[in-house]
Amino acid sequence: MKPSEQRYNDLTFRTEKHCGLTIEGFSRAAMQTYWRIPELKLGFDLGAQPWEFMNTPVWFVSHTHMDHLLALPAYVCRRRMMKMEKPAIFLPARKVNAVQHLLDAFTHLDHGKLPCDLIGVKPGEAYELSRECAVSVHETEHPITSVGYIVWERKKKLKEEYRQLTQNQIRDLAISGIDVSQEVKHPRVAYLGDSTIAGLDNNPDMYEADVLIMEMSFAAKKHKTDKIYRRGHIHLDDILERRNRFHNKKIITAHFSVRCPDAEIERIVRRKVPNMLDNRLILWF
Ligand SMILES: [Zn+2]
Ligand SMILES: [Zn+2]
Repeated sequence: MKPSEQRYNDLTFRTEKHCGLTIEGFSRAAMQTYWRIPELKLGFDLGAQPWEFMNTPVWFVSHTHMDHLLALPAYVCRRRMMKMEKPAIFLPARKVNAVQHLLDAFTHLDHGKLPCDLIGVKPGEAYELSRECAVSVHETEHPITSVGYIVWERKKKLKEEYRQLTQNQIRDLAISGIDVSQEVKHPRVAYLGDSTIAGLDNNPDMYEADVLIMEMSFAAKKHKTDKIYRRGHIHLDDILERRNRFHNKKIITAHFSVRCPDAEIERIVRRKVPNMLDNRLILWF
């Protein structure tokens, strides 16, 4: 085991396998949010950073509220200290300068360089991480600039018109320079970040991802107020009103308000959704 893989239990997080992916993370509103998927070598948000998460080299930040960003300088510093490659941090383009200033301030305070690539993203863009994997950027609805991300699996598939041909015929066509295949992509993971439900409604591909990681900051009736929507969050009822739209294999809900204890959230959800949306709905405490 490498020193960077040592588990110290310095920060709590939960680990579960879903749809062939390991989902690891923790998310509580106003506390901290951090997720990663080791197989994809990427993570979402940097509210805090368990020691062993530093092995993940690419991060997608949804927005710059402190509970989603605070660990960035520590993460970059640890990778430099452990002689790892500089990481890539994708974040809303409008915030890149301010985040660079934050890193510059820590470079000054800590007397150490913080090497990383800050990549400003805008909704509508997509980034190829590898031949098999691309990430698209989606506008969400929150009081500050915020985006969600979809991780796409890309595969080459034989074009429809060539499916009746034999292997030899296909090979001959390919040798003659004809492109017999086309790219098909499938949404593996969608990460909403902090948003009202408009963040899903306006980005319907999120409803199709194998695994959807989304916020559900509020579940209690008393918390269903205009204020939670003005602050850009989701209530359990918003999900239930759209229950038929979710085609995800797993719907991971998190970022619960600290005003509601875990047991109360669990009780409310299990009373309102006894079948947990065909056992697809996960409350991630
Ligand atoms: Zn948050
Ligand atoms: Zn936020």
